[in-house]
Amino acid sequence: MKINILHAGYCTAPEHIAIQGGRWRTIRFPAMFALLRHPKFGAMLFDTGYSYRFFDETKKFPKRFYRWMTPVTLHEEDLVVNQLATFDLRPQDISHVFISHIHADHIASLPDLGWSRFVYMPHAFSGLRNLPPSEDMKNAFLRGLIPSDFDSRSHEVDMSKSVLLSENYAPFKTGYNLLGDESIIGVELPGHANGQMGLFVRDENGKLFFFVADAAWLKQSIVENRPPHKVANFLFPDPEAYRETLGNLHTYHLTHPETHVIPSHCEETIREYEKP
Ligand SMILES: [Zn+2]
Repeated sequence: MKINILHAGYCTAPEHIAIQGGRWRTIRFPAMFALLRHPKFGAMLFDTGYSYRFFDETKKFPKRFYRWMTPVTLHEEDLVVNQLATFDLRPQDISHVFISHIHADHIASLPDLGWSRFVYMPHAFSGLRNLPPSEDMKNAFLRGLIPSDFDSRSHEVDMSKSVLLSENYAPFKTGYNLLGDESIIGVELPGHANGQMGLFVRDENGKLFFFVADAAWLKQSIVENRPPHKVANFLFPDPEAYRETLGNLHTYHLTHPETHVIPSHCEETIREYEKP
């Protein structure tokens, strides 16, 4: 598998909210996505970053607050479809999109990917599907980003078919063999959003990547087991689970320093891996 780490746009937010003891300054949070090129399944994506639809969907109040809280910068060349073109790929070449969770900065390009299967944990979307629009804001949900044929193209992870992971993945004990060939293992990373899914993916050179989405905003949080400021807890459906997941990632990082652990919004990490 060939793995490319990319990003589509970024937002800015205060560092001291993203990590306890962080500086009182605003920093960039790139909206990372990954291109995974599999010898049999072809090109696939992990998440999609931002698209211009984010701006359309946050024009009116109260969703405009979303934009104010996390101001977004996005250029034409950042769009997923334009970045795919630099790899000689068209949207119809993307066979699967693995969705970590349904927040706007992860799904904003789904409507551009009209041929892909969507793979995600069922509880990532089940609570949102029948949500009254008045509840959207509380759940950071921009329903206009969900393609109209989303359900018919969804291949939800079958939670009854978990696999026991070897000691190599400890403390993560169970996962999901998403393509059936063990090339991509999904694991649940509870706390930040319902049904948040991380991926273990090994590249063609044998390097193991662990995409952990928003289980931590900064790599430093994982390295030092340092959570966000307490005020961020109001954003999480389960702050206690968030803390436990972060502790597991910290333990995993200490015991598997060779694995490339990639949080979706850590600028330092994304820059390091984006280098060609
Ligand atoms: Zn998120």
